[in-house]
Amino acid sequence: MPSSVEASRVMAGRRPRLSVGYRREIPAGPIFAHVTETIERYSLETICVSGRCPNRGECFSRGSLAFMILGDVCTRRCGFCAVRSGKPAAWDPTEAARLAEAAADLRLRHVVITSVARDDLADEGAGAFAAVIEALRQRLPSAVVEVLTPDFHARPELLDMVCRAEPHVFNHNVETVQRLSHRVRPQASYRRSLAILAYVKRIYPALLTKSGMMLGLGETPQEIRQTLQDLRQVGCDLLTMGQYLPPSPHHLPVARLTPEAELQEWRNEALALGFQAVAAGPLVRSSYFADELLERGPRLDVIPAKAGIQAELDSR
Ligand code: SF4
Repeated sequence: MPSSVEASRVMAGRRPRLSVGYRREIPAGPIFAHVTETIERYSLETICVSGRCPNRGECFSRGSLAFMILGDVCTRRCGFCAVRSGKPAAWDPTEAARLAEAAADLRLRHVVITSVARDDLADEGAGAFAAVIEALRQRLPSAVVEVLTPDFHARPELLDMVCRAEPHVFNHNVETVQRLSHRVRPQASYRRSLAILAYVKRIYPALLTKSGMMLGLGETPQEIRQTLQDLRQVGCDLLTMGQYLPPSPHHLPVARLTPEAELQEWRNEALALGFQAVAAGPLVRSSYFADELLERGPRLDVIPAKAGIQAELDSR
C-alpha cells in the first residue's frame, strides 16, 4: 500500500514515488540502439514510444517491441492512454511491407502489432491488420504473430478480416472492470469487448485469445474477480495484469498502487480459473514479454500449424 504522502501525490495525478518493482534501468546498449534506429529507418510507430511505456528501455534492450499501425493519431480518447487523439492522416498501404522488413531486420520471432482506433475508416483498420499479417507471413514465415486490436465495434465482418489472416494470438483488452469501463474508455464497452473475445474463440477456436486489465483505477477485489470470471466465461486463454500509471497529470489519476504480492495472488487466482498463462506485475503491459507468456502456456499445440512455427518454438 502507498504511504499517505505517496497516496496524496498519486491522487493528485502526479508521479508517485516508485517502489523497487516499478524501477527500470536507463536504456543503453547496441540492441536498444538497433531497435530505435530500425523503427526510424522504416518510418514506423510503436505503442512503446507513443504510449510512453515505462518498459521501453528494458524491452528495446532485449530486442522486443510492439508495432503500432495506422498512424499515431487515434479517433478515440481513453482516459489512461498517452496516444494523441484527433483526426488521423490517410493510411499508407506501404506500411505492411515496411513493418515486415523491419521485423526481419530485427530478427523478431514474436511480432506484436497493435493500432490506434480508426473509426474514420470504412473497415476501421481491419484490412491493415490483415495486410500486415500477410506481409509478415511472406517475409518472416517462422514468426509468431500477435495482434492487439481495437474493438471494431464488434462487427463480425471486420473481426473475420483479421482472423482469416490467421494471427496466432488475438489480443483485445478489457482494460478495466465493468463499472469503471465508461470512465476509462468512454467510446468502448466492457460487454462489447467480451463479445469480441467470445466471437473469436467461437468462430476461430485455433486462435489463442488474450486480454489485459489495469489495476489501481478504483476497482474492488470482487470486481476484479468478476472480470477474471467473465474473461474465462468467453474462453480467454492468456491474461496480463499490471498497475495503471498515469502517463501525465492530465490523465486519469491512479487510485491505488497495488502491492506486488497482491498481483501475484491475482495471477494465482486467474491460473486457478483456467487461464493458460498469466503475466501479473507492477509494470506488466499487454505486450510485456509477450513471447515468454506464450512459451509458458501449456497449449502451444493449439497454434495453427504454420510452416516452421512449432519447430521454431521447440528449438528455444
Ligand atoms: S511492454 Fe509492450 S508497449 Fe511497453 S515497451 Fe514493452 S513491448 Fe513496448
